[in-house]
Amino acid sequence: MQTASNILVINCGSSSLKFSLINIHNQQTLMSGLGERLMSKDASLTINFAAEKSQHRLKPPYNHQVVIETLVEILRSQQLTDDIYAIGHRVVHGGELYANPVLIDEKVKQTITMLSKLAPLHNPANLIGIAAAEQAFPQLKQVAIFDTAFHQTMPEKAYVYALPYQFYQQHSLRKYGFHGTSHYFVSQEVAKKLNKPTTQLSVITAHLGNGCSITAVEKGKSVDSSMGFTPLEGVMMGTRSGSIDPGIIFYLVEQLNFSLDEVNTILNKKSGLLGVSQLSNDCRALEQAAFKENNRLAKLALIIFSYQVAKSIASLSASLTQLDALVFTGGIGENSSYIREQVLQHLSLLNFAIDPEKNQQARFGQSGNISQENARPCWVIPTNEEWVIAEQTFQLLTSE
Ligand code: AMP
Repeated sequence: MQTASNILVINCGSSSLKFSLINIHNQQTLMSGLGERLMSKDASLTINFAAEKSQHRLKPPYNHQVVIETLVEILRSQQLTDDIYAIGHRVVHGGELYANPVLIDEKVKQTITMLSKLAPLHNPANLIGIAAAEQAFPQLKQVAIFDTAFHQTMPEKAYVYALPYQFYQQHSLRKYGFHGTSHYFVSQEVAKKLNKPTTQLSVITAHLGNGCSITAVEKGKSVDSSMGFTPLEGVMMGTRSGSIDPGIIFYLVEQLNFSLDEVNTILNKKSGLLGVSQLSNDCRALEQAAFKENNRLAKLALIIFSYQVAKSIASLSASLTQLDALVFTGGIGENSSYIREQVLQHLSLLNFAIDPEKNQQARFGQSGNISQENARPCWVIPTNEEWVIAEQTFQLLTSE
């Protein structure tokens, strides 16, 4: 009998569910989709299939289970259900327990539940996706791929905070790092571009999207990353503040009478590009406002963002023994020639110098080295986290 050749990749958020059906042999995405505004009457599912986009309204109770049931009907109508080999789930937090993909069973689900205290917004949503997929595809194996896993190689000096050490020992308070599948993917891809094995290569990867993190990868392994105990640490992001003086939190609570819940919302949802610009969390919208409408705060937000990204790259260079290349990825990293140019301008001491023409060309899914001839290489590489999840799911199950 011929083995089924597709992996269904599921990435569940609290009110969204993204999926891709990927052929493991040729890396092609056969179908992808996004269920949005779940748990509300406006819930919808958008499907991309055979170069066409279709919108589907979801039935009550408008939840993740309904998305998966609708997806199963669509897959069935296209005779694609029998060709699914397994399901790979993105799970945000694997704590210190999972440095590798794992076959999901009752014990693994209990552990992901236990780790929810480290990622209260994400892990419970991932568990909902797992439960919904198990119900719809009881015959299929399911694998969890953790965002934190790639960073489990960080040395102690990178992940221990300068807090009383027992907080780490007793409460797992340490740096974890996130976006691991993306950093892993682009660090592998840049090795191919540079024609060197990953074991001989040291790079810094900058995943700049709505969430942003920057990672130092030495010989294929993460050795430090800008995000920390939570995805709030590091550079400013779409709506997250990134690292700030923790004293500001006390000031907001004690002097300005904000509750801790309010401070949480401010730091996670009202800061970053949105907070500074007072306009939008979207880099594209801010570039438009800054350069077409001469909006001062939009410009300031972009300038602070670029400066923080550059400082983070420079500081992460201290964790490497050599620096072969910098890689930009994520929605901003892949598309914003303005941000890339601004970031590299701050990094001339590290011998980065941008080639403006190459920088303009590397957009909309195009890879390319955007550096001048004699400068240190800087690559733009579109990320593909779904492919990593599909590939690792397949590898785990076929190596058993
Ligand atoms: P992601 O979370 O990876 O989907 O990235 C989302 C971010 O990428 C948003 O801030 C978008 O504004 C930004 N982005 C996408 N396309 C462009 C573009 N052409 N120019 C500038 N920023 C872009």
